[in-house]
Amino acid sequence: MINKQTEIFLNKKSEELLGKRTDEIYDVEDEFEKKLENSEKPLQKTLLAGKKISGKYYCLHNDRKIPVFVNATPVICESEIIGAILLFRDISRENEIDRAKTEFVSLASHQLRTPLSIINWYSEALTQNQNNFSKEQKNYMKKICNANQRMINLVKSLLNTSRLEMNTFSIKNKEIDLVKIARNTLEEVAELCSVQNISIEEKFSSETIRLKGDPQLLTIILHNLLTNAIKYSKRDGKIILEIFEQKTDIIIDVIDQGIGIPEKQKKEIFTRFFRANNAKEKDAEGTGLGLYIIKTTVEKLGGKITFDSKEKKGTTFSVILPKNGTLEKESAKKLI
Ligand code: ADP
Repeated sequence: MINKQTEIFLNKKSEELLGKRTDEIYDVEDEFEKKLENSEKPLQKTLLAGKKISGKYYCLHNDRKIPVFVNATPVICESEIIGAILLFRDISRENEIDRAKTEFVSLASHQLRTPLSIINWYSEALTQNQNNFSKEQKNYMKKICNANQRMINLVKSLLNTSRLEMNTFSIKNKEIDLVKIARNTLEEVAELCSVQNISIEEKFSSETIRLKGDPQLLTIILHNLLTNAIKYSKRDGKIILEIFEQKTDIIIDVIDQGIGIPEKQKKEIFTRFFRANNAKEKDAEGTGLGLYIIKTTVEKLGGKITFDSKEKKGTTFSVILPKNGTLEKESAKKLI
């Protein structure tokens, strides 16, 4: 049974469709525009699992492709699943508005980068030439430099977020050695570690771990996970960076013994701008964009990110990436 609106969309009367399978009538793609196997489609998923499924998809019919929000609900009679109800809501307009917002953020953050870099050069030049400064003036200079650096980081995260959302960044798929990338990243975070006397132990399954991927995106993922582990560890803490191979995948684990993630806030942890209460108390300066950027990047690389955490005991973030990488994508822009 289909309603009037579906008849209009499909340009068919319901009688014409009787007896046909839904996959003969329309196709479904996920929100990243990847074609779905039958078992991954909301109808089959709800019938198999016997529970509600909802999410963003694309509905394809003839030459049309419409972004939709789907609610799939099983119809259960005397504990037997006898069918399902599928509700499609056309979200083209919401998507357009979202895109316009993202374009604005992208443009604004791009424009902010130049003046911020200029402030950075001159304030650093002044800090290096402080002989005539009083103690108070030196203190002010330090505060200006720190605040400016925070602003540069925020603008960088906003630009990356908008590029990820608009899909306007390149993805390379070349043969790389993850151990090399991990060691370079560890050098980059060494100073941050030394401030809090934190040590990072390497546990690599071999001296070279090869996979196909984008070295710069992998550096961003590792850098973000490691800086989070450092920021949310206690003084003198210990972190483990574990990388090992499985048959078709590479697993990266970043294990810390820090403040952990409160149970009640776990489900929101990958949401844009979200910061848990204990994190805000420990470090007032985060943006809440890092994990969102990592998750989106990992998924664009065909991988998955999960975590396990206990408040006051520690957190483990695990990233699983396919050894064969993903499809290359050309773009003049990249993540920074
Ligand atoms: P930020 O660190 O700038 O706040 P992120 O997006 O990187 O933003 O992280 C979002 C939130 O996830 C953090 O504010 C913190 O609450 C939590 N979080 C991330 N990594 C860890 C970790 N290793 N230990 C505890 N909490 C973490």
